[in-house]
Amino acid sequence: MSSNHQHVNGNGLPDVNILAQLANQYFKSAPNGQASIPTYRLEPPAHSNGTVPQSVAGSGISPSALEQGAAFNIKDPQTSLPDPHFVTGQVPKSVAGSGISPAVKNAEEVPSFEQELQQIIKQISIPFPVSQLPDFSAPSFYFLSGQLSSGNAQPPFDLNTIKADFPILKQQVNGRPLIWLDNAATTQKPKQVIERISQFYETENSNIHRAAHELAARATDAYEGARKKVQGFLGAASPNEIVFVRGATEAINLVAQSWGEQFLKAGDEIIVSHLEHHANIVPWQQLAAKKGLVLRVIPVDEDGQVIIEEYAKLLNPKTKLVSFTQVSNALGTVTPAAEITAMARTTGAKVLIDGAQAVSHKRVNVQELNCDWYVFSGHKVFGPTGIGVLYGKEALLNDMQPWQGGGNMIRDVTFEHTAYQPAPARFEAGTGNIADAVGLGAALDYVSKIGLELIELYEHNLLHYATGLLKQVKGLRLIGTAADKAGVLSFVLEGFKTEEVGAYLNKQGIAVRSGHHCAQPILRRFGVESTVRPSLALYNTCADIDALVQALHQIR
Ligand code: PLP
Repeated sequence: MSSNHQHVNGNGLPDVNILAQLANQYFKSAPNGQASIPTYRLEPPAHSNGTVPQSVAGSGISPSALEQGAAFNIKDPQTSLPDPHFVTGQVPKSVAGSGISPAVKNAEEVPSFEQELQQIIKQISIPFPVSQLPDFSAPSFYFLSGQLSSGNAQPPFDLNTIKADFPILKQQVNGRPLIWLDNAATTQKPKQVIERISQFYETENSNIHRAAHELAARATDAYEGARKKVQGFLGAASPNEIVFVRGATEAINLVAQSWGEQFLKAGDEIIVSHLEHHANIVPWQQLAAKKGLVLRVIPVDEDGQVIIEEYAKLLNPKTKLVSFTQVSNALGTVTPAAEITAMARTTGAKVLIDGAQAVSHKRVNVQELNCDWYVFSGHKVFGPTGIGVLYGKEALLNDMQPWQGGGNMIRDVTFEHTAYQPAPARFEAGTGNIADAVGLGAALDYVSKIGLELIELYEHNLLHYATGLLKQVKGLRLIGTAADKAGVLSFVLEGFKTEEVGAYLNKQGIAVRSGHHCAQPILRRFGVESTVRPSLALYNTCADIDALVQALHQIR
């Protein structure tokens, strides 16, 4: 992943103007959010003139440092260590983002989320995680309208527009506002998705492709329109490369039972990584047992990153497939997907990338990755359950035998012979999940409108913020500390079972997963059977993290 060092100033800090523009773009582009967003004026970075930001959100300042009025570090929110080079200033009034619960302090002192983010943006450390930054010359960036100014920031943009799009997040659970930190299991749905599905059933519902009436045409247009949206979202060459399936699990099983059954033979080798979800282990194991294949595993280092040198040793002419995750659901590790794919090509192996945990966090381009197949589930990217995607290169898909037979996938049937449709129809036997495919299209519109680069940048900093605070919790061991991570914080807490931690957090209205996350091999690699796993999405805030960390401090 490239880091955009051209956006870094002479002090090694990110250019605060550019970061503020990113934040503006992120929230300005929130679907339905534009109208309510006032102009955000930039303040000079706090370090430039020695003034201390009013809020310390995102700084990773420890509560004790705050109480003592210590100097704090705006350079590295991850470490939370005071930076001796930084100008010591007055203790900030606000505690948001410090790990101190709003409840501990006067609630009126707690800044809004937009103030928190504003501060994060001033304090972000590099490197940038984004591979492609937006085009800053685009007129939608407000700074071109000449609003940059020092001093007197505010009123800030309305960062709550994102959260407000998700009706489910407005409720209370166990008497507390719901804090949804179980996004790796499934994401919540914005009203744009919910309304799109309702609209489909209210005005378009019909079976598709096979009738001459108006509603069949509308439903077909909606379904095929969703396919085109997925094509654009993944950067695929043609909508024919997009097969709708139930989810990532079904997509991998499809490849195993179609291509694997058809082309693999005894002695052939399949490589997966130690990070895989069971969905990317079991189908290959089943196939290996049936056909006498060999399954090899790329090991990971102590931080949870794949060891490329070891992977290189596994590759050989018998390697026919490399199937690996782009982001680990258990540890959050972002694997070097393009590099792994390029290396697989040296042996002529095919490559499948499991993008289930990637697509909601980062921009994906299957042509740039140059993979043969890419899979993801709609429900992990703010879309409905029961719908997912198998991307495959068109020629390859057309070489693959269908895995299920029935209606929709045929060109002609006699009792002697069936001729199949080309892809994608040859893999979509029977009536598909039409309404949810349309809902998935709406979900992809939603994230695309905000911008995956901005989402990635925002979440990256939220992850660093959370990591810094979690490290201060006594007895907490983070599992998965790779330099390149997305969205997931897995940990164990000394003296507590993971389910006890999950149950305690639930009482505070905080939803996290505790368990093995369908990734037992990688947890065992780190000597544990289960972890507590808060996982982030674009609607999570510093305040969510503060509540989590406060509860973890309190659990003792
Ligand atoms: N792959 C990864 C990395 C996952 O995290 C998951 C689900 O958690 C899956 C595959 C399977 O997804 P689904 O259950 O939606 O098919």
